[in-house]
Formats: sequence, structure tokens, C-alpha cells
Amino acid sequence: MNQTKYIFVTGGVTSSLGKGIIAASLAKLLQARGYRTTIQKFDPYINVDPGTLNPYEHGECYVTNDGAETDLDLGHYERFLNVPTSQANNVTTGRIYLSVIEKERRGEFLGKTVQVVPHITNEIKERMQLLGKSGDYDIVITEIGGTVGDIESLPYIESVRQLVWELGENNGIVIHLTLVPYLAAAGELKTKPTQHSVKTLMESGIKADILVCRTEYELSEDLRHKLALFCNVKREAVIQSIDASTIYDVPNLMLEEGLDKVALKKLDLPEKSTPDLKLWNEFLQKHKNPKHEVNIGLVGKYVELQDSYKSILEAFIHAGATNETKVNVISIHSEYLDAKTAENQLKGLDGILVAPGFGGRGIEGKIETVRYARENNIPFLGICLGMQMAVIEYSRNVLGYADANSTEMNENTSHPVINLMEEQKTITDKGGTMRLGAWKCHLTENTLAHKIYGKSDILERHRHRYEFNGEYLEVLQKAGLVTSGINPETGLVEVIELENHPFFIGVQYHPEYKSTVLAPHPLFVSFVAAAVKHKN
Ligand code: GLN
Repeated sequence: MNQTKYIFVTGGVTSSLGKGIIAASLAKLLQARGYRTTIQKFDPYINVDPGTLNPYEHGECYVTNDGAETDLDLGHYERFLNVPTSQANNVTTGRIYLSVIEKERRGEFLGKTVQVVPHITNEIKERMQLLGKSGDYDIVITEIGGTVGDIESLPYIESVRQLVWELGENNGIVIHLTLVPYLAAAGELKTKPTQHSVKTLMESGIKADILVCRTEYELSEDLRHKLALFCNVKREAVIQSIDASTIYDVPNLMLEEGLDKVALKKLDLPEKSTPDLKLWNEFLQKHKNPKHEVNIGLVGKYVELQDSYKSILEAFIHAGATNETKVNVISIHSEYLDAKTAENQLKGLDGILVAPGFGGRGIEGKIETVRYARENNIPFLGICLGMQMAVIEYSRNVLGYADANSTEMNENTSHPVINLMEEQKTITDKGGTMRLGAWKCHLTENTLAHKIYGKSDILERHRHRYEFNGEYLEVLQKAGLVTSGINPETGLVEVIELENHPFFIGVQYHPEYKSTVLAPHPLFVSFVAAAVKHKN
């Protein structure tokens, strides 16, 4: 197949309808039919990437192998497709404008007035086709962030309109995701918001080819017919997306509704085989029929917003299924935890995870949590800041360095066991300047980490500025802290663990980013297994 086909996914009525999950589910089905499929997301905000956004604003910042700080939907794409994404899979308005303005300064548009149409729209269209032109994909799904009708989405919508026209019949189609709300007082599902949203799309010159309707209740045949008639789509192109108990059910629900078939028909592509979802359904089977149950405490300071730790929560679902275990993740706010309340808040947990994070708020609670897990032999996993907290806790309470700290929290500590990485010292810009993306790590034989991974050399994704201070390596090792993973090129400590503890491990990287349905992360799998063991 030489012509890459494009599917654009827009959203109407309201945000948070789950465009990312619908896009990922459709991609999963197309992939399972044998099409090389990828998904990309275009976001309408001015930040060049979400790396500078507070997790409360935008949820977790997801990191790709190539070190891009991206929207959390890319995490869903990888978890569903089991194929890595890259910077090219996530573009923001800020990135588009930055690139156009840089071109303008270089004189690439010399003599011309630089305008939204055509300069910004051309830049958008070029980027929308970047992955398609690589030759690696048969189908590229593009999710447009935001809601149709928003001022900030207009250049994207216009670009989609132009591209669909330029690509020609059957090469580019539009799926519009809307909400069909239920009005309890009337006892009815309402189609009007969808009609209006489709009309808004039409005003921009785009005709939706397929409607995916989020709903809490089944859409009757009458209602589907009405939606088709008034929104000007074929009856078979009205797809119901009913609330599911898990996002991992959505590919099967879309299969039942025939979303993949209608999309292929519109793209003039053969259906090939029926989608092979054998492994996927085996995962679902285990996920829904657990034999064990554990309570794991997630100690962090962004716990009010579930999306802040999205990849960690999903990694527990994958690892839980592998262990046939229901993992109840219990959010614990580190800011409200101290030596006095630790016992009360943490007792009874089968495992404790200390979360990644930035800044000083809540860190004393994290250190107290580590102490509790260490002293009470509770399986412990520290991720990034969580690992740094484990090093500080050990330095304070085992080595006796009472004011040991990270220079991120206290620049004047007499024992900076965690400090700024050498190459970070001259950096003042905040955007995209951390240690990012996949880095090598060598695991020492006969350590817990080596046993868990079953190999010596691994690649894991990073996102941090601070590191284990090499000056304290020897004294900490002598005091019993095992440094089981080291970056072979820089000598940076990436993994720490304790010997006389059933499961105590801290990692400077983020294993959660690499956990997928078909490849659950070994660290999470072993951590959940340790929690099950602890409980019994
Ligand atoms: N704030 C810490 C650092 O920059 C940890 C970052 C993180 O947990 N991702 O090193």
C-alpha cells in the first residue's frame, strides 16, 4: 500500500469525552487487522509542550523514548498499541508558532506577510503528514485536542478541512466524537447537542464521516436513525460509545459497533482478517477475574487529580492482571503525613509507592513514608523523586546525617546526598531542559533489580534535574545501601535497593511510561507480587 490514509478525530459538545481512548481503540482494531497504524495528537495551547504545565492543570506529563515531554494521551496510545511514540506524535500550537516564527526570522518567507492562513495552516498540515510520509504507517490517526467551536482550535480545523480536500476521496476522513446526554427529568437521551456540534463543524467546511456518541444509556434504533438523518451521516456510521467499566473494554465495544469496519469502508481499504485480540482479551480476562487483592499506598502530592499519576495507575492494572490480583491504589497526601500520623495512615498497606514530583511541598511526608516502609518490611517502590527520598531517608536515619537533603529542597544542607546534575548547573531555561528520554542502565548481577529484569542492560525513560550525589556513593554503600543500577556512560546511580528487606527498590527513571497491556513492566509486576506475598 503506498497511499497513507488519514483519520482525523475531533470532539464536540464538551471536553473529557475520551477522544484519546476512542482513537487508541480504533488504532488497536486496525492494528489487529494487520494495518500499521499510529496516532498523533495536536493540542491547541501555546505551551511548546506540556512539560511546563502543573499536573493539576493537564494531568501527567508523558515522556517518550526520544525525550519528548508530551500529552498523557500518548501514554494511552503506547499502552494500547505496544509501539513507542515520539516527539512527532504530539504537536502544540506553541510548537507550530515557534517554528513559523523561527522561519520568519531566518528570512524563509522574505517579502511576505506571515499569516495564520496559509503559513500556520501549512505548518500544521506538514506536521500532520510527517509520520505518514515516513512510509512506516498505512494509517495515521490524528486527534485534535479541544472542542470544536473553540477559538484556539480554528487553525487545526481549517487545516483538517484543507488536508481532507487535498488528500482526495477516501484518503482522509473525519470522526466526530460527541455527547448524547440523558435528561433525567425528561427521561430521555438528547440528540440536540450533537446536531449543533456537527453544524459547528459544517460551518468550518467539514462534514463528519462518522459520529461516535458517548452515552450513559444504550442508543435505540430510532435515536440512531435520527442522529444519522440530522447529522448527515450513514446509519452505520452512528457509533455508540457507552460508558465502560474499564478503558480496556473500549476496543471490544468499538468492534461490536463496527467502528473499524465503517472507517475502513470510508477509506476504501479491505477489512482483511477479523481483528486478532487474543492476547488483549486474555489480559482482560485476568483483569476482571482476580484471585487476590492488595492495597497499595500511592504517596504523593498531586493525589487529588487522578490524571497526575495516570501511567502509574495503568501500570498497576497491567501488573495486577499478570498477578491475577486486584490492586487497590490508595492515594495518600504526603503533605498531611508526618512521624505522628505515619503509622495510622500507612498501616495495613501491602505495598507503598512514593511518587515522582517537583519542589519541597510534601517531601517530609515522603521521607517519613520511606522510613515506615523500610522499618516495617513493607514492599516499597520509589520512583524518581521517590528514589531520591529513599536516599535521603537512609542518609538521615541510618547514616545519621540529620539534615541530609536534596539541593532542590535545601541548598544549604550540610549533606547534599541528592544534587543538581553537572550538566544542569548552567541551564536556566525551564522548558525541555531536564534529563529526558531513554537512557542506558547496567544492572549488577545478583541484585533484586537484576533478578526482576532478568538481564543486565536496560533502557528506561527519565525526567529529572537532580541525581544521586556520587560523593556519597561509598559511604552509603558501606552503610548497606545497594546501588544496583548504574548508567554505563556517566556512572550515575539509577537504581538503589536494600538487602535485608523483602522488596525495597528506588529507581531514578520512570518505569511506568513503558508499561503496556501486552508488556506489563517487570518492576510493577514484581512489586505487586511482593505485595501479594506480604499480605499472605
Ligand atoms: N524533582 C526531582 C528532580 O528534578 C525529581 C523529578 C521527578 O520525580 N520526575 O530531579
